[in-house]
Amino acid sequence: GKAQIGVTGLAVMGANLARNLARNGYTVALHNRTIAKTDELLDKHGGDGDFIRTETLQDLVDSLERPRRILVMVKAGAPVDAVIENLIPLLDTDDIIIDGGNSYFKDTIRREKECAEHGLHFVGVGVSGGEEGALNGPSIMPGGSKQSYKSLGPMLEKISAKADDGAPCCAWIDTDGAGHFVKMVHNGIEYADMQVIGEAFDLLRSVAGIEPQDQAEVFRTWNTTDLNSYLIEITSEVLSQTDGKTGKPLVDVIVDQAGQKGTGRWTVQSALDLGSPVSAIAESVFARALSSSNPEAREEAQQNLPAGLISTTGVAQGDPEFVEDVRRALYASKLVSYAQGLDMLSAAGEEFGWSLDLDVIASLWRNGCIIRAELLGEIMEAYKGDNAPVNMLLAPGFQSILQDLVPSWRRVVSKATALGVPVPVFSSALSYYDGLRRDRLPAALIQGQRDFFGAHTYQRVDEDGTFHTLWSEDRSEVNSAGEKA
Ligand code: NDP
Repeated sequence: GKAQIGVTGLAVMGANLARNLARNGYTVALHNRTIAKTDELLDKHGGDGDFIRTETLQDLVDSLERPRRILVMVKAGAPVDAVIENLIPLLDTDDIIIDGGNSYFKDTIRREKECAEHGLHFVGVGVSGGEEGALNGPSIMPGGSKQSYKSLGPMLEKISAKADDGAPCCAWIDTDGAGHFVKMVHNGIEYADMQVIGEAFDLLRSVAGIEPQDQAEVFRTWNTTDLNSYLIEITSEVLSQTDGKTGKPLVDVIVDQAGQKGTGRWTVQSALDLGSPVSAIAESVFARALSSSNPEAREEAQQNLPAGLISTTGVAQGDPEFVEDVRRALYASKLVSYAQGLDMLSAAGEEFGWSLDLDVIASLWRNGCIIRAELLGEIMEAYKGDNAPVNMLLAPGFQSILQDLVPSWRRVVSKATALGVPVPVFSSALSYYDGLRRDRLPAALIQGQRDFFGAHTYQRVDEDGTFHTLWSEDRSEVNSAGEKA
């Protein structure tokens, strides 16, 4: 018989997705540029289900039922273009090329157009959950044409993670690059989620003297609160790990320079283009950069930059009130980063012509992906029906949660500032929150400055129209027609 789907690119992600498909009863044709990898997969895991071994792309294409479905899981970037280019002449109208890698959404938009010119469907699919998710059920964010989803959707939904209510963590997002865009923002939020946990860790240790082993217990407890999430859970695991060589906590022997593969950076770059204020997400990307981009500067700064602390005393060791304050500050900052990410999705929807259902997107992140958390269920609720809030924080449920969080948040940011503990996301998230709440922002002054040096004009609070002050003349005001009042 023929295979229902083919997978080309059998490194960890491709191999695990192929196995997941086979375990779910699909016949899967396997292809990899280096044939040895295909054989290795068959040797080790051939028993997972029905596989068809192929050596060339032509074999792969010939082994598939029509319309063909080919999942491309090669290295993101130029290799994806190379594989598409090689596939196009071998395929027939209505065949579907699926890119399940971490591709940049603008590449996906371009590739979809190119494939459409050949009568082919190109579906960019965001897949989150790492290797483990790929094998046992990832969160899947498919873009591409709605027609292609009819053929592809049932398979993807079957292999996806399931939420607690049994719903698949997979749903069509919207056309062309929408799936990859949503996956990218997921990763941006993931950066912020990880950074706020890092800030909490730093504060608990340097302000309340709680050592990693004991913090593992704190995070275990937090995981039973509304912070319940995969990242809090694994934080507890990492903090409880002792280094085999030194007997120290593992976290103390790991070099404190964070790496990144680029999706967080893409999120921030895209947000800048959209004019979307994702300050907390941006700070989390920059925090990684500050940790690793210039070690020499960090070294010299430790020796030479004045601390100017306004307090040198922390709190009593393990002070439960402080611990709870930190937990609440973490949660509030997390809410802000989700609000910013979702706001960015709305902006992107307008820019790229997608209609993104935020409740559906939140529902896909409930399981299988790295940011899976109890919070996603609440976000889903907040966006259900027709009364979507203009900003996530303004949903009635979140307003009342914030009531409990804000004083703790302010205390923690103040304490951190006084003691010189960096909290880039806690503090920028709080500034965003206060910026939203502020009745008058200094943006008015900025408009005045812009009008002064560049005649950029301003609007008035008490009159419609556009105005300019003749700064270098008599400083009277004119309207857009150049008339004085
Ligand atoms: P890699 O990104 O390491 O890519 C390796 C695969 O790409 C191999 O199969 C390799 O073939 C193939 N390849 C590279 N260049 C070419 C080329 N020019 N032509 C044909 N094949 C080529 O694999 P991963 O499994 O780690 O990731 C796959 C995708 O999934 C990437 O986009 C990645 O960003 C994304 N992703 C990865 C996650 C992870 O946890 N690793 C999580 C989520 C997404 P060969 O064996 O012949 O060298």
